[in-house]
Amino acid sequence: MSEWHAIEGLTIAIDGPSGSGKGTVAKMLAEETGLPVLDTGLLYRLIGSMAREQRIPLESESTLAEFVGDLLGLIEWTVDGIYFNGKNITNTLRSEQAGEAASKVATMSLVRKKLIGLQRQLARNGCIMDGRDIGTVVLPNAPAKFFLTASVRERARRRWSQLKNESGSNLGEVVAELKMRDQRDTERQHAPLKQAADAIVIDSTTMRADEVVDRMLGVLERRKLIKTSV
Ligand code: C5P
Repeated sequence: MSEWHAIEGLTIAIDGPSGSGKGTVAKMLAEETGLPVLDTGLLYRLIGSMAREQRIPLESESTLAEFVGDLLGLIEWTVDGIYFNGKNITNTLRSEQAGEAASKVATMSLVRKKLIGLQRQLARNGCIMDGRDIGTVVLPNAPAKFFLTASVRERARRRWSQLKNESGSNLGEVVAELKMRDQRDTERQHAPLKQAADAIVIDSTTMRADEVVDRMLGVLERRKLIKTSV
């Protein structure tokens, strides 16, 4: 049982670059507060992967937006991950190729617009949502926003230790890929990765995940957004 309980409908935004630990921390925070977690990266990964599979050119914004419109009815996005046509395909979307395709389709404003409604609808009853633009665009009124970061070398090290059994890439290659993804995410015109003015920045380079979660819980408690359940 979780030690804390959250006020009704509480939304918590966690944004940050790839490998900053958003997913791990969001899950731990969910265990502590009982809130569901929604990983928005999965939506972009699904669109990127499906577009690639169906040979839709990733540079054609209007074709892609139309494609997203067609896919929306077949997507079920839940706390267990993402279902397409009734099948949970979350694990297949974790690949580096899916991440790469995601960061390309995510540059397009029409694609992002089509996904905003779905994200807001699911956040209605309260959740922890992680992504790049949650605090700035998707849930600008979230009462708690965190921007999680870490040095590029540390983020690459984390990613590499997760991937090394499956991919043949070395640490240097992972650093290079991460830098490219950071550049695409921060320099894009629409909803770029940036901290919201009212976000609390946590640099996790030398912190363990549980220390990050403790800091977040402290903020939530001080703001009276969570209370101990005992
Ligand atoms: O977080 P994850 O690595 O799964 O995200 C994959 C890509 O999807 C990111 O590199 C980013 O370009 C895009 N994304 C986004 N906005 C979000 C979540 C993910 O642009 N809210």
